[in-house]
Amino acid sequence: MEKHNNRRFYSLSNFFKDEFKDKVFKVSLDGGFTCPNRDGKISYGGCIFCSDSGSGEFTGDRIKSITEQIDDQLQFMKEKIKGKKVIAYFQNFTNTYGSVEQLKKIYYEALNHPMVLGLAIGTRPDCIPEDVLDLLDEINKKYFIWIELGLQTADDNIAKLINRGYNLTVYEETARSLKRKNIKFVTHMIVGLPTEEKEAILETAKVIVKSKAWGIKIHSLHIIKGTHLEKLYKETRFKIFNLEEYVDIVTTILKFIPTEMVVHRVTGDGKKDEVIEPVWSLNKRKVLNEIEKELKKRENI
Ligand code: SF4
Repeated sequence: MEKHNNRRFYSLSNFFKDEFKDKVFKVSLDGGFTCPNRDGKISYGGCIFCSDSGSGEFTGDRIKSITEQIDDQLQFMKEKIKGKKVIAYFQNFTNTYGSVEQLKKIYYEALNHPMVLGLAIGTRPDCIPEDVLDLLDEINKKYFIWIELGLQTADDNIAKLINRGYNLTVYEETARSLKRKNIKFVTHMIVGLPTEEKEAILETAKVIVKSKAWGIKIHSLHIIKGTHLEKLYKETRFKIFNLEEYVDIVTTILKFIPTEMVVHRVTGDGKKDEVIEPVWSLNKRKVLNEIEKELKKRENI
């Protein structure tokens, strides 16, 4: 595998250094949205792994304005970021699930903050209608943005099991629409969904590559307290990958994705008091080290 700046995969921080010649950080914002998979439009239950915070455990406070949330996060991270610019990341729930006027207002509010150099917008592939796509296109022509799509799996049977609420063809069509407009997108996948075996997981990564995603975000499954997933786990005790198995799968993916694909994440970020399993995933440093070690080992084979 070709290396970027001596790294074994093209990480987001490598990309930022290439693109902006500097470190760039992300501030996670709550745009005040809900999700069609939770408000009854598609279902009330949501994806079975989704927590009450809409899969965004570290976002700002939704009762505050976008500007206030950015200021709060800049203040909170000031030692770490040391005055560097940030990407405003609309993270939890479905951040394109609103009227174009509403979306326009909050996106531009973030972009008008003097410390913000671009946007990252997390959403579902079935939630980018034509008028929203036009808005994203308009912003993309003037600013640095990317869209994050929660695919999680390319297997429609597993997608049903996790109550994702749309089929793979919807993802493929949205990926094509974003590509046509030259809008960068990052696709999320989860390693360790109930009953999903290694081959099917690798297939998801291949589908992401085929869709020409700009980036990939690989999460380890987190069973979070109070979710439907916790209930399923307690009822069925489905197999949880151990660290070695997880590292093997992630390393295999990192070896076959294109060298220019930006790797945004190779493991999850859970809160200690909320994650039930896999316990090893809470030691993020160790997971990253093991992946790095395995990549190095495979280079020498
Ligand atoms: S699409 Fe996102 S916010 Fe909606 S239920 Fe699934 S994980 Fe939760």
